[in-house]
Amino acid sequence: MDRPIVCIVGRPNVGKSTLFNKIVGKRIAITEDKPGVTRDRIYAEAEWLNKYFTLIDTGGLEPENEDTIMSNIKKQAEIAIDTADVILFVVDGLDGLTSTDREIGNILRKSGKEVLLACNKIDTPKTPNEIFEFYELGLGDPIVISGEQGLGIGDLLDEIVEHFPENKDTEYDEDLIKVALVGKPNVGKSSLINNILGEERVIVTNIPGTTRDAIDTFFNYGDERYVFIDTAGLRRKRNISEKIERYSVVRTLTAVDRSDICILVIDATEGVTEQDTKIAGYAHDNGKAIIIAVNKWDLVEKGDKTYLQYEKEIRETLGFINYAPIVFISAKTGQRINKLFDLINIVNNNYNLRISTGVLNDIINEAVLLNQPPSDKGVRLKIYYGTQVAVRPPKFVIFVKNKELVHFSYQRYLENQIRQHFGFAGVPLQFEFREKG
Ligand code: GDP
Ligand code: GDP
Repeated sequence: MDRPIVCIVGRPNVGKSTLFNKIVGKRIAITEDKPGVTRDRIYAEAEWLNKYFTLIDTGGLEPENEDTIMSNIKKQAEIAIDTADVILFVVDGLDGLTSTDREIGNILRKSGKEVLLACNKIDTPKTPNEIFEFYELGLGDPIVISGEQGLGIGDLLDEIVEHFPENKDTEYDEDLIKVALVGKPNVGKSSLINNILGEERVIVTNIPGTTRDAIDTFFNYGDERYVFIDTAGLRRKRNISEKIERYSVVRTLTAVDRSDICILVIDATEGVTEQDTKIAGYAHDNGKAIIIAVNKWDLVEKGDKTYLQYEKEIRETLGFINYAPIVFISAKTGQRINKLFDLINIVNNNYNLRISTGVLNDIINEAVLLNQPPSDKGVRLKIYYGTQVAVRPPKFVIFVKNKELVHFSYQRYLENQIRQHFGFAGVPLQFEFREKG
């Protein structure tokens, strides 16, 4: 689903991250054992009155080293203007209106975007007179809030969802395979796109009437229809590389959100980097299918075990996605691009795979016989049965008698047993344990 994006903008210390945490706080689970961008808390899914949206704290975007505070704020405002459906401009009601606020206000007002002005740090129910100076910004009524005390947040959220664009919820056909190419700059994503689209076997199609066709690329290959998500920047890159780069974090995460399958492109001459790990963590946490493509394979000096060695290193660093298949490619020579397509199709089938309840329970029963569930103080975990409740990604609900006895390692064991029978290459599996009396 294509969710509206809300960006929080404002100078440092006005309370952006406090507000961000207040809005998404209880709803997002922070998992400690996995790397992931979610942990940086600049980007999260949020919900208000059944309306789902993506909230971005632009203040948390990493500053480039030599920048001044002002140029950073300007960049953050530009990112917001470029990405957001609604911009939430936060000012500090205790400090009053500052010249920096005015500058930001000017940029935002000229953008023509939907901008809401939130006047923060008003910690008492009574609205002080000082807030009236914020009318000078020309952005309408300031919405009075206290991020810290949680005052006025409901009214603010009402306003936010009110300003969402209509029919933002357009979804592509279910049978269209939605692929995002992700990875850090210079790993060869543009080259890969151009190689794929330059090939005769690929027929690039236009689907008129979709608002997204300017940035997504549709094509047919064999009998399948594909859309590569957000390829505009990649295809035009030569001219505007600097600008695109600056947006790359937000863009990458948004592309991951909108895709079913992420191809994580890694530079063979460089190996897995911190940023690759973060992107992979984000895709994994969000239940996306993943393929690892090691590009620039033509540059690697190869002996007979080189790729095994490579594979081993990748598995060690990206252990939490050890289900993801790895393919060694060259966007330059076209080596194994066919194989990459085969993998996309295989992984897509796995993503949609449904195991019948009967077969699933045969696997579970056999697993339980081979390796007893954990016990505590003489009481053993009792598993009644399981059933697959969803695809894309596949999700299993397992009914048990005593949920507190479920151990992560036993869940991992069950997952491995299921994978032994069905593979599920490229696909994260989700589990939920429910108690049944
Ligand atoms: P950011 O730099 O804009 O992300 O600002 P922070 O969220 O880090 O907040 C900056 C400071 O303002 C922190 O010391 C917060 O505790 C404080 N702060 C944030 N919201 C409020 C509020 O509603 N009332 C008061 N009194 N202080 C707040
Ligand atoms: P992007 O930033 O991820 O889109 O990366 P680009 O596609 O712009 O590639 C960055 C550089 O790597 C360019 O100079 C490409 O020509 C080069 N490159 C990309 N793929 C390959 C490859 O498979 N082999 C070699 N030798 N060079 C490549």
